[in-house]
Amino acid sequence: MRAFICPACQLPTLAIGVYERERSVCRICKSTARERAVAQAMRKAILLRPGAERIVGVSDGKWMAKFATKLFANRYVNYHYHREPHLDIVNPDPALFDSADIVSCCEVLEHIEPPTNRAFVGLFNILKPGGIAVLSVPHTRAGDAHVEHFPVMTRTKLEMEPTPTWSGYTPDGEFHSFGDLIFHGGLGSTLEFRMYSEDSFRGYLEEAGFKILEIIPNDRLHGVVWGPWSRVWLAQKPL
Ligand SMILES: [Zn+2]
Repeated sequence: MRAFICPACQLPTLAIGVYERERSVCRICKSTARERAVAQAMRKAILLRPGAERIVGVSDGKWMAKFATKLFANRYVNYHYHREPHLDIVNPDPALFDSADIVSCCEVLEHIEPPTNRAFVGLFNILKPGGIAVLSVPHTRAGDAHVEHFPVMTRTKLEMEPTPTWSGYTPDGEFHSFGDLIFHGGLGSTLEFRMYSEDSFRGYLEEAGFKILEIIPNDRLHGVVWGPWSRVWLAQKPL
């Protein structure tokens, strides 16, 4: 059955193709299964923060930015690393601390240079106490190993010629260069730095101080159907 009620456009609709996280798009609003889970999580976040005044996107993609703008109008601001309005989630401007009721950070935390925990602390810091984070990353199942592709390095550099390499200097001053890079969204687009497991993702959130509220489950009625990996998460900065 590919008919469902879309949590994004809120209309009865059909999925195009078989259910997959990044496919099975809604015929009407073109949301993927993951985006519908994000929409569900966002609607839950609104119920938890009914008077939300400030909603922050961390490099939200096109679909997400459009969805959030529709929901929140100018209460939503989508920040970027490479352009204005600028936000480096690893080292956010203290002016942004305790400022957001809701933060969405989807398919970003696998692209941050290590040490990995800094981005989780950054997200925590920009939320108001009681604020909600809507999160998604690619992750493997509980029990699987967390895999960091690169060590902590400084003076890092991505070079595409003659073959894609990621290089830098480890704290002992030694130069290292890595090939066999994995990019998301096309060659040279965004480099994958790690693969979380469900356990490691939970661990980074809890270590930063978050309380995990929910891992959005499959929900066929709403077109949220894929494997038990790479889920959408809802977490809260405690009051
Ligand atoms: Zn839809």
